[in-house]
Amino acid sequence: MQTFIIIVIGSAGLWLAYRLVVLCRGIEDLTAALKDESIFERESLPETTQQDRLSRLSAAVLNTATEGEMMRMSEMGRRKILDYLLNQIEDALFVVDEHYEVRFVNKAALRLFPAAQGQIGRPLIEICRDHHIDETVRLAVSANGKMQDQIKLVNSSETLLIEAGPIDPDYKIGSGAWLIIRDITERLQTEQIRKDFVANASHELRTPLSILNGYLEILDEDGDDSTISVMKKHTDRLTRIVEDMLTISKLESNQADESLLRMELFDISECINGTIERLQLLIDRHDTVISVKYPKEGLRGFYGDPYYWDQVFFNLVENALKQNARLGLKITVRVKRLEVNDRFEIDVIDNGVGIPAADLEGVFKRFYKVDKQHASGELKGTGLGLSIVKRAIEAHHGSISVTSQPGRKTCFHLSVPPPPLSVLSPV
Ligand code: ATP
Ligand code: MG
Repeated sequence: MQTFIIIVIGSAGLWLAYRLVVLCRGIEDLTAALKDESIFERESLPETTQQDRLSRLSAAVLNTATEGEMMRMSEMGRRKILDYLLNQIEDALFVVDEHYEVRFVNKAALRLFPAAQGQIGRPLIEICRDHHIDETVRLAVSANGKMQDQIKLVNSSETLLIEAGPIDPDYKIGSGAWLIIRDITERLQTEQIRKDFVANASHELRTPLSILNGYLEILDEDGDDSTISVMKKHTDRLTRIVEDMLTISKLESNQADESLLRMELFDISECINGTIERLQLLIDRHDTVISVKYPKEGLRGFYGDPYYWDQVFFNLVENALKQNARLGLKITVRVKRLEVNDRFEIDVIDNGVGIPAADLEGVFKRFYKVDKQHASGELKGTGLGLSIVKRAIEAHHGSISVTSQPGRKTCFHLSVPPPPLSVLSPV
């Protein structure tokens, strides 16, 4: 009996030992098979891994490995597509990490800075060797917003536009910044040719037009020839367009700074009153109520070129009148002075037809008119007024914006900086 029990226990022990060895071999084979990255099908696994319980484990592990591989492949595919696309871009693109070390460059960047070849991980300044570029990137990171600058590289006649911004933390791809460098030489040259053409053409048209005007005035001395007065109306209109184009050319030229503007401290109420006087006929025609509000502390310290401020107010008030040739129009010109930064804030408000939201952006563009129906008959404009206004205000380092609730309130808002300290207290 004793011998029988020993034989049974011995056999059981031997069987268990055999199972253990088989199981261990199965696990070893499975591990080896998984290391071989090409095996992703159950049939390709060695037979030892297919035994009952182990086969379920193999299946589960295989599934997970297959999913992981698929994700890796799709990530690699995405990466390749992204690399391909970024290399197709004509602009140079850099990505730097939080230490301003380059982590990515596209092909255009390598063409512009051949030194970047094989330099991933080196500081941006060492690759670009231009402190403007490095500073723009650092500024964008510290200000947490986009920054722009224009540069010319040493020994190069090309003008480059550099644009940088922080990497958006929402994308969870770490911190750092991107940098795009675009060659804008050709664009600037074309722009310059266009500006020169407009300036020259307007200048050349000026003399023959004034001669024509002179002759028409002589011919129509008594003012009763309707043909001549129609011709006169049109040459007047042409003269205004030519003058406007010349003004725009001047303001767009590189001299649109203090050498073009005759900057002085002056009383802005004179410009506003002058505008109202010049437009009195239009104001009276439909009993328009026009009110002007000045700051309590007075208007001292307004700094600019009165010639351009005359044009600014004339255009803004004339627009409100022209677009709303009807009874019940109210126009308010309000000048405020901000205590915080001493800036002048000016609003020109009317309660007329207004400007639809879709046109608000466009009105400052040259020749842009919202609706040819608004302005009636002889009051038709050219669409140049607001582009002059915008350029004039920008030449004064100010800004202009417009908001409108058609039929209720249209407001042109101007913001102008105070004069430099040297003007207020000359040494
Ligand atoms: P110009 O000023 O050259 O004689 P214009 O008055 O048509 O011509 P802008 O002053 O540039 O040109 O104005 C552009 C357009 O914006 C106008 O044609 C008009 O459609 C719209 N606009 C401007 N101001 C107002 C306003 N206060 N109310 C409604 N529409 C306006
Ligand atoms: Mg106008």
